This record gives sequence, C-alpha cells and structure tokens, in this order.
Amino acid sequence: MTIFDTHAHYDDPRFASDLDEVLTNLPQKDVCNVINIGCDVDTSKMCLDIADKYDYCYAAVGIHPHDAGKAQDGDIDRLRKLAQHPKAVAIGEIGLDYHYDFAPHEVQIDWFERQLALAKELDMPVVIHEREAVEDCLKVLRNTKDVRGVLHCYSGSWETAKELLKMGYYLSFTGVLTFKNARRALEVVQNMPLDRLMVETDAPYMAPEPFRGKRCDSTMIRYMLEKIADLRGITPEEAGEITAANARRFFGIK
Ligand SMILES: [Zn+2]
Repeated sequence: MTIFDTHAHYDDPRFASDLDEVLTNLPQKDVCNVINIGCDVDTSKMCLDIADKYDYCYAAVGIHPHDAGKAQDGDIDRLRKLAQHPKAVAIGEIGLDYHYDFAPHEVQIDWFERQLALAKELDMPVVIHEREAVEDCLKVLRNTKDVRGVLHCYSGSWETAKELLKMGYYLSFTGVLTFKNARRALEVVQNMPLDRLMVETDAPYMAPEPFRGKRCDSTMIRYMLEKIADLRGITPEEAGEITAANARRFFGIK
C-alpha cells in the first residue's frame, strides 16, 4: 500500500511524548510522504523543523482562519521567508471558519486573500480550510486567478464540488469518509475525477472508524483508501497509488 498523508499536524502537543517514535516508524508502515501544515508562524516553523529531521516529511506554512485575529502585519513577510525553505511546498492552512468564528469575518477574509496573493507571488499551491463559510469562500476563490489549491477535509455538497473542480481545485478527504453520516462526502468521492482526489489524516484529529475519537496517525489512511476503493471499484492499493501520484504532482514532490 502507498500512503501519502497530505495534511497532518504532528507538531501538535498530543504527539509531544512520542513524536520521534511515531515519525521514525511511519515509512515502515507504507507511509511514503507526510505534509505537516502550519496554523500560524510558530507552528509553521515547527512543521519545517520536522521536515528538516525526517526525509519524507514536507511542510506548508500559513495562518489558519482560527489564528487570523492574532496575526500581525509582519507575518506575511515572515511566511514569505519561511516559504523559501527547500521543504516548504505550500501556503496553508488558510481559509474561512464561521463555525468557530474565532476572528471577525472581515479579518478572516483579509488574511485569506493576502495569503492567496502570497501563494501566487511565490508560485506555490494553497491548502484551504473552509467550514460553514462556503459562500464567502467561493466568492474569494472566484476572484482569485492562477492559484492551485486543495480544499482540505472536504465536506461540502457535490454541487459546490463541481464548481471547485471546474476552477481546477483538488479535494482532499479525512477519516470522515468512514463515518456513518458521511453521505455527502461519499457522493463527491463517487462522482469526482480520480486525478483530483487526495487523502489526509488531519492528525491528531479525525481518526477514521474504528478509531473514531482516538489520536489519529497516517497509517490509518488505509481505512479511507479502502472506502475509496469500494466506491470506485478499484483496489485499495490502486487508490493509494492514485492519491499519492496526485499529491506528488500537486505539491511538486519527486
Ligand atoms: Zn488541519
């Protein structure tokens, strides 16, 4: 099996006690690559530190909508510098979250747009987080030209997915695919072009069934691949190879 985890947070405190053990073992358990995703300047640096230490790990640097309220003007320059690191492969995670609403909508939109502009300037792809903000997110993306992006932990409708796919976006899925109430995500996976599909853990969150609620790690992606294989009439191995090839192309990893 080939497992490319396109979105993880191994910098999370929940891995602090055994991080080295977990990350040293993943390549022996079919994990070919992991992208750790920053949520502010500090965690972006931590993701780059992990990438320095483990050959198969890469990083995205960015400011999460949850952290947009704390972001400072100089942070775009700080991200621009961090993005020069040879193992920085994307700007993220960026976007809008009106579910938790930790920052005013205008502030979230402003940081979303500024980071999309940075990605365009640096010719890097973006990793987008959207929760209960689909209309504003689409509005921003419709006004954004020439940026490659992925909607992470996609949970929207097939209608919205069609518009995003038409604009060239990739869609990435977590353990949610294995949940009993995953009807919408399953409909999207069933109908979307396979060459735009990626998988992720969002570790330590979003562990798939039968581990729901537990700390998630990249090996658990095999349960998502089994679900995808089921829906598309391919083998889990093929699902792993296809999603890994998509991720390599998207992030520009050889
Ligand atoms: Zn995340």
